[in-house]
Amino acid sequence: MKKANLIMLGAPGSGKGTRAVALCEVLGIAQVSTGDLFRNNIKEGTELGKLAKSYINKGELVPDGVTAAMVKDRLSKPDTAGGFILDGFPRTLAQAEMLDKILAELGEEISYALYLDVPDAEIIRRISGRMICSECQAPYHREFNPPKSEGICDKCGGKLFTRDDDKPETVKKRLEVFRSTTLPLADFYGARGILVKIPPELSERGAAADMREVAEKLGLCAR
Ligand code: ADP
Ligand code: ZN
Repeated sequence: MKKANLIMLGAPGSGKGTRAVALCEVLGIAQVSTGDLFRNNIKEGTELGKLAKSYINKGELVPDGVTAAMVKDRLSKPDTAGGFILDGFPRTLAQAEMLDKILAELGEEISYALYLDVPDAEIIRRISGRMICSECQAPYHREFNPPKSEGICDKCGGKLFTRDDDKPETVKKRLEVFRSTTLPLADFYGARGILVKIPPELSERGAAADMREVAEKLGLCAR
């Protein structure tokens, strides 16, 4: 059995957040989403939030050093010691190198990078219709994953909203950034022999069952 220190790679709107949440529940590991961490900081009006917002709303990446410091802080918390899934980090080669350093200091290493390869046309379809919970950040989709009652989170009753950066112009920019800057990471982890492509479509059994199957195939241990 292998410890689950995982990276989730995929374009914006590829469904990596949904997979990451499911995998965390299946394995009992911690989810570390840089997008969620930034959005929490924006909501709370912190200095980090103010800085991040100026990049996020243009569809640009927050500078590597800022993002890596936030991740380092998060990975130093005890709940990640039994395994974690990084959702949205690393997104540049420089961040991948920073991550190696952070993990080496903690005596940890990445077990696998899971990659969702989704065509652009499908991405646009998925992003238009996406909503998230304002309280617990759970993701929904009007068509593919609707909440039981409209506009309300199934899990916590929070209000659902559409992210500012899910506007079509910003999505186009984010996809460009993904192709040019983040996609090379697939080769980076591929060369290391730890890249695993996972099916970009959910089966009818749902995300939890799909991710349980991935976890079993890879021999990942639950907490
Ligand atoms: P998505 O994967 O759908 O693009 P995220 O919630 O992961 O959404 O990220 C939203 C935005 O937050 C990104 O477009 C970017 O501006 C910023 N961000 C998130 N993760 C990183 C990162 N690792 N490095 C730099 N910026 C990031
Ligand atoms: Zn919620």
